[in-house]
Amino acid sequence: MDGDLLRDLDEIRARGLHRSLRVVERRDGPRLVIGGRALLSFCSNDYLGLADHPATSAAAREAVERFGWGSGASRLVSGTMRPHAALEEALASFKGTEAAVLFPTGYMTNLGVIAALAGPGDEVIADRLDHASIIDGCRLSGARLRVYPHGDVERLERVLAAARGARRRLIVTDTLFSMDGDLAPLREIVALARRHGAWVMADEAHATGVLGAAGRGGAELLGVEDGIDVSMGTLSKALGGSGGFVAGSAVLADYLRNRARPLIYTTAPPPASCAAALAAIGIVRREPGTRAALLGMADRLRRALGAIGLDTMGSGFQIVPVRTGDAGAAVRASAELLRRGILVPAIRPPTVPRGESRLRISVTAAHTDADVDLLAGALAELAAAGVLGREGGG
Ligand SMILES: *Cc1c(COP(=O)(O)O)cnc(C)c1O
Repeated sequence: MDGDLLRDLDEIRARGLHRSLRVVERRDGPRLVIGGRALLSFCSNDYLGLADHPATSAAAREAVERFGWGSGASRLVSGTMRPHAALEEALASFKGTEAAVLFPTGYMTNLGVIAALAGPGDEVIADRLDHASIIDGCRLSGARLRVYPHGDVERLERVLAAARGARRRLIVTDTLFSMDGDLAPLREIVALARRHGAWVMADEAHATGVLGAAGRGGAELLGVEDGIDVSMGTLSKALGGSGGFVAGSAVLADYLRNRARPLIYTTAPPPASCAAALAAIGIVRREPGTRAALLGMADRLRRALGAIGLDTMGSGFQIVPVRTGDAGAAVRASAELLRRGILVPAIRPPTVPRGESRLRISVTAAHTDADVDLLAGALAELAAAGVLGREGGG
């Protein structure tokens, strides 16, 4: 077996795509120790600094005291404990929906929901840059997948027309895109869906807790929450823990509890994980200033990078891509930043199209202005040294 696998691995290496795990030995917000080296990270999705916040840790500790560590069974057997129910109630209240359904991860949420809502004879319509879990959910469902170019509503309309004969048509889109840091044109998507009788599912993974006055996400920001049939979010990014959820009607929740296999056939998450997420939602609701400060810090970075002529690709929120174009340039820039103690990943094909390689910076509320200025200064040096050049097309 290993011989076979090694041949595949060699091919991955030959394409320059081999990856391995880095072990974080210690963490204090964005300050990590990896391999004995202190690094400043700009690659976490812990946008509000809640992953190692005293309140989330305390809530988890208290829940361990009361309920123990494990849940011991799947949700529908006896794994639904008070913290699971309390979290689902809090999520529904936060999102202003009748109900919410918790899943062990965001990935499993998309698998479960899409495969429950669509099947053979149906069509799932997805943005080209949608998250892998959406594509995998579609494959699992047996529905036909149609993909439209990123944010292109004219092409979406043509796809909707072409899919006219389907039993159900489900449009699924990320709201805030993870690699480009831009928003889906949700107003146009909702209007098209209404006109064509399609359903809309919004994946708010990167937007939950960050976008909108109340932190409910991209649909809140754009004022289209009423047009979203299925609102999916994660507990694993701005909420700092792990898990995923769907917020929607009581009927949708009932349906998913009966049909979503990644909810039915897996052990319920540890109650402590739910208690920590509940505490995180409380912070999001009570502290709107944190998300405002986060977005302000991202703007500060974007302004600094714009002033030295770097292309931040039309991003508007806490995810700040810096286009290098060339894959080699992205890798060299990432290595140079690492040498300076700053962790910023290079994103290359096949994650992004050829010629669109970039650095992907994510700012968090746990960064300081000085951290952001340090990064901007390092990028200015690299730009001056020609490391961020845009030649080539890889
Ligand atoms: C991260 C992410 C997910 C998966 O969420 P996890 O909780 O990490 O499994 C799903 N959709 C999008 C858009 C994401 O960015």
